Amino acid sequence: CGFVAIVGRPNVGKSTLLNKLLGQKVSITSKKPQTTRHRILGIDTQGAWQTIFVDTPGLHIEEKRAINRLMNRAATSSLGDVEMVVFVVEGTRWTADDEMVLNKLKALRCPVVLAVNKVDKIEDKATLLPHLQWLGQQMAFAEILPISAKSGTNVETIRELARKQLPEGEHYFP
Ligand code: GDP
Repeated sequence: CGFVAIVGRPNVGKSTLLNKLLGQKVSITSKKPQTTRHRILGIDTQGAWQTIFVDTPGLHIEEKRAINRLMNRAATSSLGDVEMVVFVVEGTRWTADDEMVLNKLKALRCPVVLAVNKVDKIEDKATLLPHLQWLGQQMAFAEILPISAKSGTNVETIRELARKQLPEGEHYFP
């Protein structure tokens, strides 16, 4: 066990963040693994609840069964055994789907980092999510970080936090 989940509604930038975190493009649909390191990820795209999992070395990315197993585990355990969750929201947009994800996260015991993404698009600070202060009061986030998954702002901070949370010797982040 021991993995980090990147969660958030569609289009908030989870895949972009994941690729930035891993420092390389990873695709689960590819027949050949695009990575020489042993990493696996499952992407659960059911409805608004999207989760990207990074998991144990030794399993291969092209093994669909392994991915299904991972997804099933995630579904049944409801993120119960993750080491850390990165909750990605857009800096300028808050929807009912975000709220649904938030409510699901409230039950978790692991640290949840709130990543307020796409801050590169925000020129005027006043347009930053008016909900942000309210959001910070909804649950005890381990960190609240403005990030840009695209340009890399604060992505290193998330990588550091993930490294700290993952068990010794099980680091998937370069
Ligand atoms: P996902 O559905 O949550 O995995 O979102 P994606 O990673 O596919 O990103 C959705 C869209 O947002 C894409 O067009 C990305 O290029 C864009 N995007 C992601 N992160 C950023 C960011 O930090 N800044 C900007 N400007 N666009 C971003």
